[in-house]
Amino acid sequence: MGTRWSTKSTAEHILEQAKAGVMKLKAASIDPHLVVVLVGDDPASHVYVRHKVAACEELGIRSTKIALPADVAADALLSEVMRLNRDASVHGILVQMPLPKHIDCDAVIRAIDPDKDVDGFHPINVGRLALGQPGLFPCTPMGVMALLKQTVTDLSGRRALVIGRSAIVGKPMAHLLLHANCTVTVSHSRTVDHQAVCREADIVIVAVGRPGLVDGGWLKPGSWVVDVGINEIKDPALAEKLLDGKRLDRFRATGRALVGDVNYRSALDVAELVTPVPGGVGKLTIAQLMLNTVTATELQR
Ligand code: NAD
Repeated sequence: MGTRWSTKSTAEHILEQAKAGVMKLKAASIDPHLVVVLVGDDPASHVYVRHKVAACEELGIRSTKIALPADVAADALLSEVMRLNRDASVHGILVQMPLPKHIDCDAVIRAIDPDKDVDGFHPINVGRLALGQPGLFPCTPMGVMALLKQTVTDLSGRRALVIGRSAIVGKPMAHLLLHANCTVTVSHSRTVDHQAVCREADIVIVAVGRPGLVDGGWLKPGSWVVDVGINEIKDPALAEKLLDGKRLDRFRATGRALVGDVNYRSALDVAELVTPVPGGVGKLTIAQLMLNTVTATELQR
């Protein structure tokens, strides 16, 4: 029987590093400043931005939220990003995704100054990560690496599987694991026989967006499982399969629940450590965003 893999102390450790950086910068009369650009009315995006702004407040990082209407012209958004690039009082720029369909996300990401790109999505930062050079790298994979490194000092030779190959999570995760000398496999929607691949892995990172995709039966006994997925479920049959106890009671009362990509209950029967959803990787992501803001500020000194 495995245990819940708490991310709390790793998140706290990342925040302590960020706080120390903020204090050092302030002692040098530099006021770290993150600008979050929010386009449209996506409710989830509003919640994410609120959490980011609150985390800044807690650490003494100045934050500004720029809210633009859903029908903002693509050129107007690009001009805003350019203006923020030129503004020396702004150290970090984050354009909250997803953007409305009429806007080319890649063009917006390319427009951000790579040294202010706290999300680490700019092609220059992607290249720096691939080459093992210093830069700003995506918050979720960076947070997951901090969790792994806090659990074991040397990851060399471990077999790591990343399920999902997105630019935001899967690909950068694979690069970071490779730099930590893991033997890395990436599986995705076209992979044949996920279970066979999964059963070989000491460490499994799942970032797909499919509730309960990874079942305990897929896993190697004693493996470590990081569940990045966040999915809202409303299907009672799925809830009965994935939830129990108070969480199932709450689902029955509200008709909805947040779950990860891993069937947490069955995974715990086989794995040694499994991160929970909610309350797992999300904490790491936001803490790492604070540290990335400090790093971005230091890059511009
Ligand atoms: P995405 O949709 O961009 O990518 C999903 C990936 O999963 C793709 O590469 C696809 O090939 C793969 N995939 C699809 N179906 C599959 C299947 N049946 N088997 C294996 N692979 C399959 O998603 P993303 O942005 O990487 O996010 C993934 C999940 O992680 C989502 O639930 C998202 O909400 C969550 N997320 C959480 C955090 C956090 O801070 N906790 C951060 C980012 C993303």
